[in-house]
Amino acid sequence: MTVQLQRFKMLVGGEWKDSSNGLASSILDPSNNQVIAEVPRATKQDARAAVDAAKTAFHSPEWRDMDSAKRGRILTKLTGLVRENSDELARLETMNEGKTLRESKGDVAWAARAFEYFAGLADKIEGETIPVPPRRLNYTLKEPLGVTVHIVPWNYPIALAARSLAPALAAGNTVVMKPSEITPLTAIKLGELAAKAGTPKGVVNVVTGSGSEVGAHLVSDKDVDGIIFTGSDETGKQVMEAAARNVTHVLMELGGKNPHIVFPDADIPKAIKAVKDGIFTNAGQMCWAGSRAFIHESIYEGFVRELVDKTAAMRIGPGLEDSTEMGPVASKSRQDIVLGYVKDGTEEGAKLLHGGKKPKDPRLDKGNFVEPTIFENVTGEMKVGSDEIFGPVLSITKFKTTDEAVTMANETDYGLYGGIWTSNLKTAHDVASRLEVGGVAINEYLVTFPQTPFGGYKDSGIGHENGIRALEYYTRTKNVSVNLG
Ligand code: NAD
Repeated sequence: MTVQLQRFKMLVGGEWKDSSNGLASSILDPSNNQVIAEVPRATKQDARAAVDAAKTAFHSPEWRDMDSAKRGRILTKLTGLVRENSDELARLETMNEGKTLRESKGDVAWAARAFEYFAGLADKIEGETIPVPPRRLNYTLKEPLGVTVHIVPWNYPIALAARSLAPALAAGNTVVMKPSEITPLTAIKLGELAAKAGTPKGVVNVVTGSGSEVGAHLVSDKDVDGIIFTGSDETGKQVMEAAARNVTHVLMELGGKNPHIVFPDADIPKAIKAVKDGIFTNAGQMCWAGSRAFIHESIYEGFVRELVDKTAAMRIGPGLEDSTEMGPVASKSRQDIVLGYVKDGTEEGAKLLHGGKKPKDPRLDKGNFVEPTIFENVTGEMKVGSDEIFGPVLSITKFKTTDEAVTMANETDYGLYGGIWTSNLKTAHDVASRLEVGGVAINEYLVTFPQTPFGGYKDSGIGHENGIRALEYYTRTKNVSVNLG
């Protein structure tokens, strides 16, 4: 199938622009590596111009003095626009990222819901009055941070762009968004919809370019007041170093190596389905992927047999095809990295139970497909048991006692999410409190709503997105003391 090549521009100061040096980058469909679009390859100068535009917009009375209820109405309008355009957005997401259309539709719906949720909070960001010794009035003002830079990864392009854009706008910040260089299309569309919804010029800017040039400039620009970084822990550490030089606020949403713990009293068919979906959704490219499964020895054999059978029956193919259950990984380099980990796992002594190769189907030859892969006998010392593979690779380990399972689950530098499977309330809550993670799901996996905090412990991040708590990050607190004597 030949695809109509789309040419996109980027949004800076309310204008649709090419890169200042005229260069563009090709955007590929990961299911066949055909070029589907071209986007401007922004330069440092373009990044600087975007920060400048956001700074000017932040100080403009049109935005600064806007009634917070009106900001809420703009976000409500944006919610409606995302919903009206959901078919186009979902299609674009699938063509660019590779995930199934059903998943993309879910992501677009999630993005709309994030705008809806924060629309309702825009006029409820309140300070407090504080009792102090007599004849004084003491209160706090909650003020926006200023210019916020949003660095977005490629695995959930629209959902993660919305996750930080919504609270940033609700709190009155102005935004420079840099989507991933490989999946920028829906973020550009989101910029277009934000403008249509009534955000004044310069309030939302979208620059498309590389992490090493544009991203690195944005996170070290002195005029930036807050950075929201979602990506790998390796890049996150570089971003924190750059931010430290200007004492810029950071919110870090990083990687995970998330455990499921399945006890013998669990609803086993439900747990098998969730363990499978928790690693093979989006071809395993989720920070929250349940990439390690600890299964109790008394149910181990039957559980693993059934899991492997169900995995073997999965239909792999292009995300746009209705029958597809798992699409490709997002890039050729990701495919190479995942297959490299499979080789490591085999050499380290883990037993490959299923997958581990490119699929044989010649129809899929040109795409970045990897079979859904399952290893058993994995330990925390092996790369497959400790590194975030960010692909469709599950590691299974048998356990005897609860203590042993919790110890192995915590034996990682990451601490993002965990799944517990049991019908015993005491076990469920006891293990939930002992897992060193920022979020736990009991008898389902994963559960995240725009209203529930999401963030990592340990190397998985700093701070929280989602929920009222997220607004803490997007605002700063000023204390005012008035002498009434
Ligand atoms: P990445 O770190 O390679 O890139 C993320 C973003 O950072 C991209 O936009 C990239 O261009 C930019 N970037 C790269 N170098 C930069 C630099 N020096 N300065 C500033 N920006 C730079 O991550 P990725 O491969 O795109 O995404 C996968 C990672 O994201 C995984 O580790 C995954 O777990 C994590 N992730 C975390 C969450 C979460 O909420 N915790 C959500 C999704 C993804």
